[in-house]
Formats: sequence, structure tokens, C-alpha cells
Amino acid sequence: MNVRTLPPRPDAFDRNLLLRALAPADRQLLAPLVEDVTLTTGQVLFDPGQDVTHVTFPLDGTVTTLLVPLLDGRTIETATVGREGALGGVVSQGYLPAFNRAVVQLGGPALRMSAKQLQEVKQTSPAIRNVITRYADCLLAQVLQSVACNAAHPIDQRSARWLLTLQDRLGDDTLPVTQEMLADMLGVRRTYLCGVLRGLQAKGLIQIKRRQVTITDRAALEDAACECHARVREHFTEVLGAIYRDDGKLVAVKPDAAPAPSSALAVKAL
Ligand SMILES: [Zn+2]
Repeated sequence: MNVRTLPPRPDAFDRNLLLRALAPADRQLLAPLVEDVTLTTGQVLFDPGQDVTHVTFPLDGTVTTLLVPLLDGRTIETATVGREGALGGVVSQGYLPAFNRAVVQLGGPALRMSAKQLQEVKQTSPAIRNVITRYADCLLAQVLQSVACNAAHPIDQRSARWLLTLQDRLGDDTLPVTQEMLADMLGVRRTYLCGVLRGLQAKGLIQIKRRQVTITDRAALEDAACECHARVREHFTEVLGAIYRDDGKLVAVKPDAAPAPSSALAVKAL
């Protein structure tokens, strides 16, 4: 894998919500096992059939996507993973062949560790096992909802859903995405997507610039989206204890089994 690796920076654990939720003792268990990596946009982390050797925790600003490649050359997005989660060896026990493709949509920093070592640590720490298991459930919920969404909901609602999801992952109103990227994610032609985005812009929900989309009215965009984004977010909140601000942005994770001072600080900061 083409990544640059370094020892983790001291604040790195605070920049991924799963890791931020861990108590100091659990962070100390993981610290010697993780490495700081820089992922590049377009980089493939694994492809179907490849052994998943590493678990990757995207940090602030880094977004990855789990895709299913079809024989006709198209790829269908099934889940978007950013600072709220992890990918590779999360659902499985690690070192199993991947079913899908993992691609970096927005490059940036991440932490990664051996999938095998994560399995060993999970045997040692119930809190780490708990947070990973809960996250795996949320990831599955996201994938299941995507199946329903792709089958049943129109493109304008799906576009709004995707923009809201990306805003959650980035924690920023301005999304550094191109219309080509959005079209690829949604499996539609760019010209068709342009019309959809212009419609959202005409209603004052978003503002489109050359290589970015800014969400200007989050509440109205939520109204314009199908129910899928809200349903997945509610499941995250219920199962993982994720904390959302009033504007809907995901800002902290507080699993019951891993009360941590850093999480408490995050909640206080709301
Ligand atoms: Zn939907």
C-alpha cells in the first residue's frame, strides 16, 4: 500500500471519534501498535479478494468509501467512512479476503494498525472490543440503508443524503468535492447530477463552486433528503452513543463501556 508512515502524533487519537472515546488505559494499549499515515485521494486501500491486513482510522478531513465494483465497470457506493469510524478488519476478524473495494475519496491523515493485532487487543480490552463491535453494527446499518436507498429513492433525495453524510464526516459546511466525484458515488451521469445540484442551489440549500459544495441551509437540506440519512444517524446515536450537535454534526462518541475524560470534554464543549 502506498502510504507514508510515521509514529502517531500525540493528538492523533483525538481526531478519530472511535479512538477519542477510549479511556487512557485503552489508548495506551493501542498507541505502540498504530502508525500515522497519509492517504491520497483515489488511493485504493483494498480490493475484492485481497487479504485485509490493516485497520484504518481516518482522522479529521479524511473520507473513504466502500464500493462494490460491478462487471460492467460501474462501482456502487455502499458506505462512507470518515473520522467517525474505521475500515478494514472491523466487521471481520481481519486477514480475511475483502468483499468490496475501499477507496480514499478525500485524502488526508489516518492512523492504521495490523488487523491481527487489533484482534489480539480486543481479547485484552472489553472496552475496545465493545466500541469496535458497536461500530461494526453501525457500519452494517449504513450499508443496509444504502441498499434500500439505492433501490427506492430518487436521485435528488439521494444527493441530499450524500451531502449530509459527507458534512457529518468532515464536520465542515464546505465540502471539497467535485461534481464528478458526487456523480460517481451516486452512480449517475455528471450532466444529470449537475441539474439536481442546481435545483438544490436554486432553493438556497447549497452553493456550488468549482471544486466545492457549501451547505448553506442544513435543516432545509435534511428536509429535502430521504429518511435514510436520519435513520442511520439515529442508529449511530443509539448504538454507539454518538453525540450530535443541534446542527446535526457528529462531534463525539461516548460508548457506555468506555467513559473517557476526553469524551466528557467533548460533550461539555457542545
Ligand atoms: Zn434514501
